[in-house]
Amino acid sequence: MPHNPIPCMICASSDSTLIVAKARLSGIEIYDLVRCPACQASFFSPMPTPDALNEHYSNDYTFYKGDNYKAQGKGAAFARKYLIPYKEQGKLLDIGCASGDFLAGVQQGSLWEVYGTDINPEVVASVQKKLGLDVRVGEIENIGFDAGFFDVIRVQDILEHVPQPLVFLKACRRIIADDGTFYLSVPNGLADAQNLVDYYAKYDSPAFSGAGHIYFLSFPSLKLLFKQAGFRIEKAYSYNFKKGLRSFSILPKSKHWKRDLTPPVWSKPQSQPQGTHAHQQKKRSAAYYDFQFMKDEMFKLPGVHAYAQDLSFVLKPL
Ligand SMILES: [Zn+2]
Repeated sequence: MPHNPIPCMICASSDSTLIVAKARLSGIEIYDLVRCPACQASFFSPMPTPDALNEHYSNDYTFYKGDNYKAQGKGAAFARKYLIPYKEQGKLLDIGCASGDFLAGVQQGSLWEVYGTDINPEVVASVQKKLGLDVRVGEIENIGFDAGFFDVIRVQDILEHVPQPLVFLKACRRIIADDGTFYLSVPNGLADAQNLVDYYAKYDSPAFSGAGHIYFLSFPSLKLLFKQAGFRIEKAYSYNFKKGLRSFSILPKSKHWKRDLTPPVWSKPQSQPQGTHAHQQKKRSAAYYDFQFMKDEMFKLPGVHAYAQDLSFVLKPL
């Protein structure tokens, strides 16, 4: 589609970005979803303003709900499997910590000190009150942690939401110790963008990026970002292959694939659908959570595979 080419936000390639779809984030504003032919990253254009992003997150609390025991169990299993063998004690930061249950689990399962951040002030206040954890509100670039303070930083499904991924990653690099470990998971941008592209092609109507993703980072674009921010890839894993194959229509798309891509009707006051949060809320044994954790880990294949829906990385400072 012809348009005024904008430079790539990731690799600054001089190749013209292409509009691959139109999309919405929140409200009625329509954005272009553009793709860089050089690094294959896609992103919203123009980049949504901080106000538009805040509006989106204040409308959607689904990020912050779930099974608290399960999230805590996962944190404790993570501590037993990855943190304690690495160091008996240390400092962990979870950026985008939402309910804080993962951190609470790490704290229960180890001697590690835990810290969190989230952009939602109400969520942070409730985590502080409920769990008594050191959780700060705001963006990592502007939160005053000392340089090299953390042994481990965890960033799960956050990078695709931030307006400036490189600035974000550089801020992480500043506060992680030189021998620290950075656990980062992110959707495979090509798979993640494909549903928005397909929706727009099929319905000629802007897809709703309901999960709030504004960047769709391909592996080459991630690799470049990591290097520019001062990280090297120690390990890479791919997972959620079935979902990825559905995104690319190699497997038939699920029956309800368009449900999450259809913009909600904004003229009506929003109400939470009944039953959305009816997750299991029952405390199980540590062995149960360790088993679940290991089961999830087993479905992660080493390396970066094109058809995976999600990627996770273990990064080390350069
Ligand atoms: Zn690019």
